[in-house]
Amino acid sequence: MEAATDSSRLVSHTFPRPSWHRILREARPFTDVGHYRYPDDAEGNHTKGFFAIEPVTRSSDFVDAIADDIESWADRQSVDVDVIFAPAQPAVRPLAQAVGARLETPTAFWEYLPSGRYGDRLVDGSVPRGSSALALNGVSLQGRCVGLRLPQFVESLGGTVVAAAVFAKGATELVRQTEQRLGDRFYSTVQVDVPIYPASACPLCASAHGPPRSWREFAEARR
Ligand SMILES: [Zn+2]
Repeated sequence: MEAATDSSRLVSHTFPRPSWHRILREARPFTDVGHYRYPDDAEGNHTKGFFAIEPVTRSSDFVDAIADDIESWADRQSVDVDVIFAPAQPAVRPLAQAVGARLETPTAFWEYLPSGRYGDRLVDGSVPRGSSALALNGVSLQGRCVGLRLPQFVESLGGTVVAAAVFAKGATELVRQTEQRLGDRFYSTVQVDVPIYPASACPLCASAHGPPRSWREFAEARR
């Protein structure tokens, strides 16, 4: 059995600890070893280890457990939005839809490329001008998605991100800034410490690790 370690820990006080242990044990979404590239293209960052949403949301039990906890957070914090905005990542869609059903709020999805990058258009739903949005994602290792990219895209459509929710947040400076800016309106189930490096300054490349593998190899591997 894979135990929770300091580098992956439950941070939502209302999420059932047995469910988190089941996710670690059965979905095995986290590794603290290995050399991966994310997004998987020439400009992508390199990581030591990875945390993937793909094996987690394959289970409707896990989707329901996470969505239930996001619903109770939204109730506590009186998060009342017009739209739930999420990347159209196939593994994030079921979570966004489950949260949308619980909050009785429509969803809108941002184009998502197989590399892990975002595109430049909505592929489903709409963000009406003047609307308030909950930015939702599966994993935000760097904090760039919910802290920066999703809010900027929503703003370009005339809306505003007023709260954010992710299953797993990283431990970078941008994650800390997002925590400070949104306070209790930034929900995470768990926090994971996955070191991220620019390709030009990757210590794993500098040592004898060989080139990075695509993050998808870990995310989509059979468990
Ligand atoms: Zn590297």
